[in-house]
Amino acid sequence: MDATTTTTACPRCGSAPQGSCAACRTGSGYQPVKDRWLEVRPALRQAAEPFDWAIGTEHGGLVAVWDWERGEFVPTGHDDRHARYLWLELTTRCPHRCRHCYLGDRLGGAVAAPEAVRVALRTAGRWDVAEVVLAGGEPTMHPAFVDLLAEARRAAPRVRVLTNGWTQRPEVVAALAQPGVSVEVPLLGWEADHDWMTRTPGSFVRVVRSLHLYRRAGVALTLTTTLTRRVRPALDRLRALAEELGVPFQPSVLSRQGEAARHWDELAWEA
Ligand code: SF4
Repeated sequence: MDATTTTTACPRCGSAPQGSCAACRTGSGYQPVKDRWLEVRPALRQAAEPFDWAIGTEHGGLVAVWDWERGEFVPTGHDDRHARYLWLELTTRCPHRCRHCYLGDRLGGAVAAPEAVRVALRTAGRWDVAEVVLAGGEPTMHPAFVDLLAEARRAAPRVRVLTNGWTQRPEVVAALAQPGVSVEVPLLGWEADHDWMTRTPGSFVRVVRSLHLYRRAGVALTLTTTLTRRVRPALDRLRALAEELGVPFQPSVLSRQGEAARHWDELAWEA
């Protein structure tokens, strides 16, 4: 049997067997950093701070956490050296108000000071970070996003940008297409279901346009989704869209945090 085929339904997204779920095939090489992060972040949250910055590993756990008073990373004592990532939330701004957003009440107008981001990127070097993850909110809404992305590329071999695909600004798209940068964009349902999840009319149409724009620009793209009851009927169409675009499709499980905790009964896959 081919190592990439499956004989049972995917346990993550419930897709049919025989390899129909490209993202869930064994050996896809995809590292679900956001999933690892969501597993560890509840223990980290500092209520007074708008952003979470930390260094974790793709095996799970945190090796260092940003101390906002000292302005530096502080080791946790966890010394797993496997594929460390630096999680940097650049802003809590976002054009969406998703029903599953893990930021919850943090979603708003905070913007990280560019100099603080630069210090974090510079000092993270001593932790052998393999990948910088630029997250938010919507990270491309940070006024210095293009400059900070360039600095992140100097700080680590890989940079992953978690964006909702809202931006179509040429300078941002060109920056996202740079070598070493990968981009993840979610669709949370098909058409009206996506807009219902984002509470943003027209967002599905806009994001699909962005996906095509990004691909034409040469962006290393992954189409993602979060597994909710709302997306379940759309999974085959999302996989087909990913195949049409020539990009991987990667579902993630819903994490019971922020808005998702408030809307758990109407969103949870098993509810
Ligand atoms: S796009 Fe992301 S950051 Fe914005 S509201 Fe949705 S889940 Fe939250």
